Amino acid sequence: MRTVPEHLAAIVARLSPLPPVRLPLLEAAGTVLAEDVSSPVDLPPFDNSAMDGYAVCASDLATPPVTLPVATDIPAGDAAAHGIRPGQAARIMTGAPLPPGADTVVPVEWTDGGAHEVRIDRGAPVGNYIRRAGEDVRRGATVLAAGTPLGAAQLGIAASAGRPDLLVRPRPRVTVLSTGDELRPPGVPLEHGQIWDSNSFMLAAAVAEAGGAATRRSFVGDDPAKVRAALDAELEGADAVITTGGVSMGAYDVVKAVLSGGGEVEFEKVAMRPGKPQGFGLLDGRVPIFTLPGNPVSAYVSFQVFVRPALRYLQGLPAEGLPTVTAVCESALTSPEGVQQYLRGVLAFTGGGYRVRPATAQGSHQMAALAAASGLIVVPAEVTELPAGAEVEVLRLPS
Ligand code: AMP
Ligand code: MG
Repeated sequence: MRTVPEHLAAIVARLSPLPPVRLPLLEAAGTVLAEDVSSPVDLPPFDNSAMDGYAVCASDLATPPVTLPVATDIPAGDAAAHGIRPGQAARIMTGAPLPPGADTVVPVEWTDGGAHEVRIDRGAPVGNYIRRAGEDVRRGATVLAAGTPLGAAQLGIAASAGRPDLLVRPRPRVTVLSTGDELRPPGVPLEHGQIWDSNSFMLAAAVAEAGGAATRRSFVGDDPAKVRAALDAELEGADAVITTGGVSMGAYDVVKAVLSGGGEVEFEKVAMRPGKPQGFGLLDGRVPIFTLPGNPVSAYVSFQVFVRPALRYLQGLPAEGLPTVTAVCESALTSPEGVQQYLRGVLAFTGGGYRVRPATAQGSHQMAALAAASGLIVVPAEVTELPAGAEVEVLRLPS
């Protein structure tokens, strides 16, 4: 049996990051930058006022209060060439260029707010409330390095640096396909023996949480020809495929039946619980396919442990899993030797540290406990017993 890290390493070894594409700025949100971005100009590009107020010469304010004529108004964006002489003030708005001749800005709150002449009640040092050209970014400096995940602030600086588009590794397009003759779509009445398909919805949402773009395909039953046709249909539009179900030891394990033998996909037993039966390969030698177990909790844990890091790798990021915290476990745990267990638990931050309460329902079909959980408690393979109060590592689930 493979260990969890061995299986993940075997997967990552067969993946390559997606080729970069150029996307309009807003479409690049949630992707990963594939170029360095620098600013072609100083930021700010010019000395400007940090406040609504008056641009003046500091030396005119030596003995406040003083009253100065207002020579001009300078709104933000004003392209006209203003200037003041000693003894004059310019009414200036936040972000407007500092007029030549002025060396300080007095905020309106320190004045009577006059439009034609202004009484200034306080002195101000040279440079007061002036934002200097280049004090955010120097012209030519790198503002974002290749490999940076692009969130709101990163798009903000890219736009500030004048970029309408960016070269990025796109969100991986992932098709999620569930198999099983017993499955029906939610919304349709069930007959005896049937259940509603939960995996495809859950995993499509998990793909989005991991930075991918998911397409959910309706379940394809347990007919080998249909499963093969459904997989072949994904060869063009998908960067990865996830199936659930049909990979254990049953007589109708259709995914395994369809993909075994050709060398496309290797089916492995991984020393973990839940999630022992795992399959990974390249469809048609190129499209990564993850064949996850059918039990919903197994499928979910497998996704977080293997697929999430793989999707990050496709985006050009390290093949990292969920973030972990160390927590005090509120109850004693037992765990079979030789398998890494992932137990559902509820995390709480109290008294300066994390505590975790293991769910009482730990079956791989018990979705309600998973839905109530905020963490997966990791019990390493060699650990068989943990007393209450022991420290454990907990994977934090996306919320
Ligand atoms: P299988 O691996 O196909 O034998 O499925 C194992 C268990 O998971 C069975 O109880 C299935 O009914 C259940 N299962 C498989 N696929 C899904 C699905 N998409 N949604 C909910 N349960 C599923
Ligand atoms: Mg099945």
